[in-house]
Amino acid sequence: MRENVILSDALYEFEEIPESLIVYGSDELALEVASVYSEFGSKVTLILPDSLGLDASIEKELMRVFKKKKVKVIKGAEEFSAEQTDQGILVSLVDDKGKSQSIEAVYLYTSGERQPNVQDLGLNRFGVDQADDGRVVVNHMAQSSNPDIYAVGDVTAEGPNLAVKAIKHGKVAAEAIAEGYPEVDLTFLPTIIHTTPPVASVGMTESDAKESGIEYRTGEFSLKANGYAMLSGQKEGLVKVISDANTEIVLGIHMIGAGAIELSSNFVQLLEMAAKEEDVTFPNFAHPSMDEGLLEAVEALTGQAIHQPPSRKKVNV
Ligand SMILES: Cc1cc2nc3c(=O)[nH]c(=O)nc-3n(C[C@H](O)[C@H](O)[C@H](O)COP(=O)(O)OP(=O)(O)OC[C@H]3O[C@@H](n4cnc5c(N)ncnc54)[C@H](O)[C@@H]3O)c2cc1C
Repeated sequence: MRENVILSDALYEFEEIPESLIVYGSDELALEVASVYSEFGSKVTLILPDSLGLDASIEKELMRVFKKKKVKVIKGAEEFSAEQTDQGILVSLVDDKGKSQSIEAVYLYTSGERQPNVQDLGLNRFGVDQADDGRVVVNHMAQSSNPDIYAVGDVTAEGPNLAVKAIKHGKVAAEAIAEGYPEVDLTFLPTIIHTTPPVASVGMTESDAKESGIEYRTGEFSLKANGYAMLSGQKEGLVKVISDANTEIVLGIHMIGAGAIELSSNFVQLLEMAAKEEDVTFPNFAHPSMDEGLLEAVEALTGQAIHQPPSRKKVNV
C-alpha cells in the first residue's frame, strides 16, 4: 500500500515519475501537471470539474492536443470519491453525460485553493477593509483602506493569484510610499498556461464579445500554415483575434502554440495601446517567424491571410 497518494499542490513530492496519474482541476496548474507528466510518460487522466475559461477555439485545440498525447479527459465531474487500493488510488465519479466512471492510478493530484494567512494579524483593528475570505481590499496603488498600510500579491482581494500581479503590486506600493502616483491595472493580465504547447490569452474571448453585445469579428490562423512552425516541427496550435467590427480595435488575442508565452507581451501591448487591426497589419514582420501567426490571424479578420483559403468574413453580434 502506498502512502500520500492524494497530493494537493505538492508536485515536488513525487520521488519518481508515476506510471499513472489522475489530475483533478480546471485551473492552469492542473492543466500544466497533466501536460508535463504526460510528456514524462505517465498515463494521465484529467478530470475537469469546470470550464477552463479560455476562448472556445483555444480550449478545443488544447483538448485535441491532449487527446493526441493520449491524455484521457473527463469533463463535468464536480464531485468525486477516492479510495486507496493496492495500485494506488481508485477515483469514482459521474461525468457530464451522467455516466459513472472509475479510474485507477498510482497518484491523484487535486488543485487546491490557496487561502490568505491573515487571521492573526488583527487587520480590523487598523481599519483595513477585507473581503469575505480575509483578502485585503486595495486601491490602484496597492494601498488599503488604512492609507499607511499597503498589501501586495495573493493576499489582495482583486485579481488572480499570480506572480505577475504580485510583482506589479510590489513596485507600485514602493513607488506610492515614495510619494509617486503609480497605478496597477489588471485589465490586460495575460493568462499563461505552460502546457506543451503553451497557451497565452489576453483580453476578450469570443464568448465575452458575444455577451457584451458589441459587433465583433474573429480571425483565426492555424500554425500548420506558418512557415517557421513548419520548419521547426512545432505545427500544433493556432492564433485567434477578436476585434470590434466598427472601430477595428483589437479586443482579445489568444494563442496556443510554440512561442505563445513570448508573444503574449506583444498581445498585452497591443491591447493596452488600444491598437487597431492596421497597427498589426501595417508593420513588417520577420519571416519566417511564429510572430507571423499573429499577423495572419489579424489579416484573417478581413479574409486577407495569404496562407489560408480566403473566407468571406461576417460580422457577429
Ligand atoms: C505550483 C505553482 C506554480 C505557479 N506558477 C506561476 C506562474 O507560472 N506564473 C505566475 O505568475 N504565478 C505562478 N504561481 C503563483 C505565484 O507563485 C504567486 O501568485 C506568487 O508567489 C504570489 O506572491 P506573494 O508575494 O503575494 O505571495 P507568496 O509568494 O506566497 O509570499 C508570501 C510570503 O509571506 C509569508 N507569510 C504568510 N503568512 C504570513 C504572516 N502571517 N506573517 C508573515 N509572513 C507570512 C509566506 O511564508 C511567504 O514567504 C504559481 C503558484 C504555484 C503554487
